[in-house]
Amino acid sequence: MPEKPKLAVYWAASCGGCEIAVVNLHEKILDVDAAMDFMFCPCLLDTKKKDIEALPDRAIAVTLFNGALRTEENVEMAHLLRRKSQILVAFGSCAKGGCIPALANFTTKDELLNAVYLDNPSVDNPAAVIPSGTTGFPEGDIHLTPLLERVKHLAQEVEVDYYIPGCPPESEQIWNVIETILSGDLPPKGSTIGCGTLTVCDDCDRTKEEKRITAFRRNYEFYPDRKACLLEQGLLCMGIATRNGCGAPCTKANMPCTGCYGAPEGIRDQGAKMVAALGSVMDIGDTTGLSEKAIAGRVDDFLKTIPDYAGLFYKYTLASSTLGGRVGKQT
Ligand code: SF4
Ligand code: SF4
Repeated sequence: MPEKPKLAVYWAASCGGCEIAVVNLHEKILDVDAAMDFMFCPCLLDTKKKDIEALPDRAIAVTLFNGALRTEENVEMAHLLRRKSQILVAFGSCAKGGCIPALANFTTKDELLNAVYLDNPSVDNPAAVIPSGTTGFPEGDIHLTPLLERVKHLAQEVEVDYYIPGCPPESEQIWNVIETILSGDLPPKGSTIGCGTLTVCDDCDRTKEEKRITAFRRNYEFYPDRKACLLEQGLLCMGIATRNGCGAPCTKANMPCTGCYGAPEGIRDQGAKMVAALGSVMDIGDTTGLSEKAIAGRVDDFLKTIPDYAGLFYKYTLASSTLGGRVGKQT
């Protein structure tokens, strides 16, 4: 019987949601198992790093690499799996654009560690210990891999063949991608796959009436109309600046899209696209006869109703954005 192509799934700096999305294939996971040798997935299988190191180069047919690169170990595994894989896929928003872990790039590594281990009011740490390095125990040494100065997405470290967006990717899209890979009918390298090329708004069945709003509101402040566009009701829905392919489950559940599929095809920066889109919904009233300063003041007042620009507009893409992070905090 011919050997089945090897499939690896690896997590770096991530929450585990991408693995859950794989498990959510439900019975289709048996089809994956029938078609491929699912041989490496640290949270599901007991394959060791040394087993991967022992493989010939390019022995793994496909690696789905999820998670951002936060530690030196993440970087080491990215290089190892790149070398051992024919196809390396940045799987999910952390690997594709940095996602939530990359929001740490708005601060420095030292500020981050201080906030977690020293300044945190719920931490009792009188000796001011910040875990690092190697600690000896009778049973053996424990080695903590150092943090990188800043969080990277996968393509900032190794060559990536394909990208699958989503936080996490929708399970049916994972299956579509596996089928595509097995068929050998692959799109050009560097493509974003398992998604559409339009926006979530294109898949959303809510009615848009080109209404303008005078302020944004938070989700908890009111119960939105289930049929009308959420953005036009004052909720910061990122659908207009987000790639489609998820089936718009959030807006169907009466929640705004937070943008987890990243920028639509051809858009470099999701946050910038969203900022540009805000102009089309912003109502600052009649500005006839007002000075530029007064108009700017009204725009400022409107923007003040957005609680957290960076966290909203760059939640999934900061590491791959033009901004990159560390605004005003560079050391
Ligand atoms: S902005 Fe949001 S609610 Fe409105 S159409 Fe787009 S995805 Fe739907
Ligand atoms: S609607 Fe938006 S946030 Fe929800 S799954 Fe789709 S892309 Fe992600």
